[in-house]
Amino acid sequence: MSKKLEIIKQKVIKCTNCDLCKTRTNSVPGKGNFHSNVIFVGEAPGKNEDKNGEPFIGIAGKKLSMALKEAGVSRDDVYITNIVKCRPPKNRVPTAIERETCQEYLKQEIAIIKPKIICILGNTAFNSLLGGSEITKFRGKLVKKDNQLYFLSLHPAATIYNQELITVLKKDIVKLFNLIVKLKNNKKVKIDIDYTT
Ligand code: SF4
Repeated sequence: MSKKLEIIKQKVIKCTNCDLCKTRTNSVPGKGNFHSNVIFVGEAPGKNEDKNGEPFIGIAGKKLSMALKEAGVSRDDVYITNIVKCRPPKNRVPTAIERETCQEYLKQEIAIIKPKIICILGNTAFNSLLGGSEITKFRGKLVKKDNQLYFLSLHPAATIYNQELITVLKKDIVKLFNLIVKLKNNKKVKIDIDYTT
């Protein structure tokens, strides 16, 4: 891990900036390859993540790993994090204040890793990063905002009880990595939504 990311990790572990610190077992800093071309951003840690201090290690995490495997990518090759780094009680959606308070960590993770694409997983990340809603309508799209590319997809948790959605998630992740290959080869990619114009 880069020294700068290690510093953020230690800050997250000790952070008491919002009320979620009172109910968490462990903070859950982002984890993965800091040379990654993509950062996956979910909503918040769940029960397993809270217990172990690692992101996406429960059933939803397994679904994400499965989708990555389908695209020929190992989890170790990517960086995975969340909008808020501590588990909200009973897995409720993090409040606007919690999200705002925690956003500085994500901003720093993005600034250090400089991903070609940020992959937004689900509505909370969509709303927090781009002000969007109804991810199911917009998933699969490539978005540009302030010189940063974002790819929209479902939260892997949505696929747990829905076999059709796991197919959709896998399709999205394959598309995401096809886009990354194009970007790495300096080829043009089609921007579906441009928030900067
Ligand atoms: S959710 Fe974020 S801001 Fe709140 S205590 Fe955890 S690390 Fe700090």
